Amino acid sequence: MKRTAVILILAILVQTFCLQLQQSVAQVVGSDPVSANILDSDAYFQNAVRHSPPPDFTQRIEALLKRMTLEEKVGQMTQLEIGVITSGGGQTTQIDPEKLDKAVVKYGVGSILNVNEQALTVDHWRDIIGKIQDSAKKTRLKIPVIYGIDSIHGASYVLGSTLFPQEIGMAATWNPALMQRGAEITAVETRAAGIPWTFSPVLDVGRQPLWPRFWETFGEDPYLAKVMGVAFTRGVEGDDSRSERHVASSLKHYMGYSFPLNGRDRTPAWIPENYLREYFLPTFAASVKAGAKTVMVNSAEINGVPGHINHHILTDILHGELGFKGFTVSDWEDIKKLVTTWKVAADEKEATRMAVMAGIDMSMVPNSYTFSDYLVELVKEKKVPMSRIDDAVRRILRVKFELGLFEDPMPGASLKSEFGSAQFRQSALQAARESLTLLKNDNGILPLRKDQKVLVTGPTADSLISLNNGWTYTWQGSVPSLYPTDRPTIRKAIEDKVGARNVKFVQGTRIVQGPGEPRATPVDKDQEVDILEAVRAASESDVVVLCLGEGSYTETPGNITDLTLPEPQLKLAEALIMTGKPVVAVLVEGRPRIISRVADRLPAILMAYNPSHEGGIAIADVLFGDYNPNGKLPFTYPRTPNSYLTYDHKLFEVEDTAFGNTAFRPQFEFGTGLSYTTFAYSDLKLDKKSVARNGEVKVSVTVTNTGKRPGKETVILYLRDVVATLTPAGKRVKRFAKVYLEPGQNKTLTFTLGPDDLSFIGSDNKPWIEPGDFDVMVGGLTQTFTLK
Ligand code: BGC
Repeated sequence: MKRTAVILILAILVQTFCLQLQQSVAQVVGSDPVSANILDSDAYFQNAVRHSPPPDFTQRIEALLKRMTLEEKVGQMTQLEIGVITSGGGQTTQIDPEKLDKAVVKYGVGSILNVNEQALTVDHWRDIIGKIQDSAKKTRLKIPVIYGIDSIHGASYVLGSTLFPQEIGMAATWNPALMQRGAEITAVETRAAGIPWTFSPVLDVGRQPLWPRFWETFGEDPYLAKVMGVAFTRGVEGDDSRSERHVASSLKHYMGYSFPLNGRDRTPAWIPENYLREYFLPTFAASVKAGAKTVMVNSAEINGVPGHINHHILTDILHGELGFKGFTVSDWEDIKKLVTTWKVAADEKEATRMAVMAGIDMSMVPNSYTFSDYLVELVKEKKVPMSRIDDAVRRILRVKFELGLFEDPMPGASLKSEFGSAQFRQSALQAARESLTLLKNDNGILPLRKDQKVLVTGPTADSLISLNNGWTYTWQGSVPSLYPTDRPTIRKAIEDKVGARNVKFVQGTRIVQGPGEPRATPVDKDQEVDILEAVRAASESDVVVLCLGEGSYTETPGNITDLTLPEPQLKLAEALIMTGKPVVAVLVEGRPRIISRVADRLPAILMAYNPSHEGGIAIADVLFGDYNPNGKLPFTYPRTPNSYLTYDHKLFEVEDTAFGNTAFRPQFEFGTGLSYTTFAYSDLKLDKKSVARNGEVKVSVTVTNTGKRPGKETVILYLRDVVATLTPAGKRVKRFAKVYLEPGQNKTLTFTLGPDDLSFIGSDNKPWIEPGDFDVMVGGLTQTFTLK
């Protein structure tokens, strides 16, 4: 009797919650808040990079530094992983007092990182971090420990946190305000767990789609990535990092990591310095300017020089040119890898010397005390000068002071009440919606009617793992038991929207995840499950929603040798197409998997990237017309594995058409993104046709909603330097704006282009600005001006 009553009350509570959520969802569909119009990406950017400088802690830093022994200084430069100070694993992780004492009291270790295999609750984290800080209080100088964690798309190592689309999806929103809001929430939820430092954002530019971390980037365009990156950094750090609502960021992976020649993780890149500066430095330079407190170093190599010993990049450019005041942290075990992987040092002691002298301030060791021991020896032997140690320690102490850790090493207890709130979830839903990118919609087959019989099938249809990808509760994101049970998959969200009786689900094929953490096997071990059953169910349905894509992965376990979508998925798609029923594809994937074998026969294709927990609802909203899609592709979607060219290729790269070859025929171009309404561009005007060398040109354009639904449009302004000393790109993004327009409404946008926009990095690695013609291209319109 008692049990029945409890069940009844629970059922009522669940129903009320669902109703509330539905109501708030309906509100968003109607009014679309949060994402105020971004009328000029440059205005947003200029405002975001500006920040009030933190208080000056020089006196306190110098006073402390004077009192520190060599061992204490080296301790500050050491970062160990949580496993070194705990016992148990996963949810049974506990501080081991003896191990903790050895690390923090004996070795004076300045930083700890990571999770023990998997995410913990807020309370569990606070217990662990609290004990670490208590231990620091037992040391002579009581310097607090800075704990760091990968809060990648939300506080992804804290159970129950609010998770956002991965960066590649956030880039597709072209909405930096939304990115900033997401980062603010991430900071609050990270700090709620007692953690003051996140290893994000990723500012590597994604120009190599095989790379298994492609989805961790903001896509292929340096300008879009720069603006979104600054939004992330500002959101995380806020204007006052001592406020318990903010944490320190770590810009990673500085720099050139994302462009491996062979597409595999942590392998060589060949990037001449002028191209490094043109394509890979701007994101980092902008976020350093925006005040970022730490930088994580490229775990691979460029031009034969491992990131961790690149003095030119770590010291000359980062300190000298960019004026970076914070500290650098190595990536995982990367000093040891100078010996074991890169083979540029004969032993670890030599590797330690090389890295510290190049500009590594803190070593993510992370599993031994060798770094500390060797560094102490090196200083005593005068192979590393004390001045370098002092420089590193000053930087680390400055960040600890700026974060307010000396006053309160673990604030944020009150934030627990906001953690995972409905309001935060609403922002994540909004981000998921704005990320969805409609790539194809023949004859307006979408939106679907809600009274149709729908077959939902495919390996990503019923998978929260695919919706999220890596860095979700675990490194590889592949442990189902850690995922919440109340977030709908695509299948469930469609059933909720149109009624379970109208939906049939058949698995079709399955993606086999690796056996588990920490070393999953490579992805793409797809299996056929019940393709024949899917075909039978299709013949009894009006429409098929086919959810394709990838499982979860990151770093080396995500390496693949072929960008083509795995054979079982293509086979499923072909079998369904053969039924003659319309097949709408939803791509849930972290990189553009080639679908050319079936793309022309799929009337509609919706790119979902990795939209996270609210992705199911967002996808159902778009498929059935409750939300008008407005994402735009932040990369070029190739048609064939060996024809990859970014949108900003040189024009001559495609000019072999005379011989019947067209090199640039992507499946979908960068910037593709359809809407359920239509937009027209008109009146592209320049305020002058001839511009002085240091002058500016104002560009205006009118965009009109010519369809029947309200909608958002991202206006992208491209510039072409017609003739240049170094072969010019066909076009480069220089500005964008995202506008909301009612049917019939129009807006005129004005952008100002200045000398920085007209220059490129010359062969002496400095900006060059050359007279001549420039084409301005917006929405299919072109105007030309001449630089004098
Ligand atoms: C990754 C970094 C990450 C670090 C700490 C490394 O393997 O490359 O992106 O921040 O681990 O988890």
